[in-house]
Amino acid sequence: MKKAGIIGSGIGGIATAIRLAVKGYAVTVFEANATFGGKMTQFTLDGFRFDAGPSLFTMPHLVDELFELANRHPADYFRYQKLTIITQYFFSDQTRLAAYADPEKFSVEVEQKLGVPREQVAKFLRKSARMYQATADTFLHKSLHKLSTYISSDVLKTLLALPDLGLAATMHQTNARAFADKRFVQLLDRFATYNGSDPYQAPATLNIIPHLEHNIGAFYPQGGIYAIAQSLVKLAEELGVTFRYNEPVTAIRTIDHKVTGLQTAKGEYTFDLAVSNMDVMPTYRRLLSQEKAPEKTLRQPRSSSALIFYWGIRHSFPELHLHNIFFSADYQAEFQQLFKEKTISSDPTVYVNITSKYSPTDAPPGQENWFVMVNVPHNEGQDWDTLINVTRETVIQKISNALQTDVRSLIACEKVWDPRGIEADTSSYAGALYGSSSNNRMAAFLRHPNFSSRLQGLYFCGGSVHPGGGIPLCLLSAKIISDLVPAEQ
Ligand SMILES: Cc1cc2nc3c(=O)[nH]c(=O)nc-3n(C[C@H](O)[C@H](O)[C@H](O)COP(=O)(O)OP(=O)(O)OC[C@H]3O[C@@H](n4cnc5c(N)ncnc54)[C@H](O)[C@@H]3O)c2cc1C
Repeated sequence: MKKAGIIGSGIGGIATAIRLAVKGYAVTVFEANATFGGKMTQFTLDGFRFDAGPSLFTMPHLVDELFELANRHPADYFRYQKLTIITQYFFSDQTRLAAYADPEKFSVEVEQKLGVPREQVAKFLRKSARMYQATADTFLHKSLHKLSTYISSDVLKTLLALPDLGLAATMHQTNARAFADKRFVQLLDRFATYNGSDPYQAPATLNIIPHLEHNIGAFYPQGGIYAIAQSLVKLAEELGVTFRYNEPVTAIRTIDHKVTGLQTAKGEYTFDLAVSNMDVMPTYRRLLSQEKAPEKTLRQPRSSSALIFYWGIRHSFPELHLHNIFFSADYQAEFQQLFKEKTISSDPTVYVNITSKYSPTDAPPGQENWFVMVNVPHNEGQDWDTLINVTRETVIQKISNALQTDVRSLIACEKVWDPRGIEADTSSYAGALYGSSSNNRMAAFLRHPNFSSRLQGLYFCGGSVHPGGGIPLCLLSAKIISDLVPAEQ
């Protein structure tokens, strides 16, 4: 039996472990932390449970697929439900809008609340679906760094769709051309933040993202997002995968440009292949310091990071849902501050996630667990302590105004996670949430491939490499690796 060693048990590492185990490999996963999940982690505080990292779950079939691959029935391990209201939006002019999952109902709501003709909304969502269908197989499901990708029939499909993709325009330009209502443009531009990018720089191809949420749907896993990692680790263990916690890998061993094993403080382990789920930058700098690194790839600008206040709230707000957005008054200024001035906006858009709406035991009766997040730049040594203090006040004020309630007096307990903590806890370079940003047209091609072209037997999965960050793309990186690795006999 050939042996595979995986560095890191983020969602990409866990999914890769499952796929390689199914292929017949003996798989060992090394994790620096005391438990699995990486950014997808959870904690409890004074009777409140919080999912610390991701909160929005799309494309659940990519999780189901892993159970099916192992001949298991997904629902025996992992259950989820489709949301009926995806997001509750609060605009700065006090307008409120419920983003219904049903595209028809959503179009009617946008017409009634924002005055945008419903046919225009429906047309936009149809176009988003067409763009996704024309590009996903080429750009998301395969390596962009293998010739075989470019001689498949999927490429023809992508080429035929090129005029529709709007490669020359930014996301914002395309959305502003399509809609006169600034609030609806803001709602659509927001999808750039789903991979840590700036709608005023990112190409209009990112307009495929609304398709995932508004046509396919957003979902809530029973028990919260962490249930995804828990159920997959259970499956991996059943397939014989070994997890070694509190055991960071310190070096990737090679001889003659071929991987031979992994080094930890406990010893050297031999492997036929290794997969790094660690961010690609520290993988090269710390684990492969003797090797030549792909400097151009590593220099790509990083995505945004996040500042999160986890608040136990001594009250229940029926007007809030699972996902809530309190928009800034000037989105362009917000992104200018975020990506150009590399600071936190003075009027940030605030996202509030409340899992106790769906999992009542996540908070004591009559109370709520608020995950309050603003997009912030990745860590470049900003004065975070000052920025956090200022932002905390702004955020409390903003939500209090929108809800006409003094939120400050309701905060029962608090924990804070910022880019420094995200980097320290998960080794994500500069605390970026999604690896490199997608702020230019070539970004997809400039991401690190899922394999090393210099070192035989070395592969890469997770948010810092192709096809990108976020739960679905990390799961797809595992699929790409599995397609590249030969099956064990
Ligand atoms: C606050 C926040 C909000 C987010 N919101 C969303 C969302 O709503 N929806 C969504 O889809 N995505 C979201 N994301 C992004 C998503 O969480 C990530 O893209 C995804 O979880 C990253 O998974 P990964 O496989 O890259 O591994 P990571 O989660 O980055 O984990 C890497 C693992 O490797 C381990 N490791 C690192 N170095 C070593 C070493 N040398 N040896 C052993 N182990 C090592 C780390 O300890 C860690 O456990 C969010 C992220 C954050 C932080």
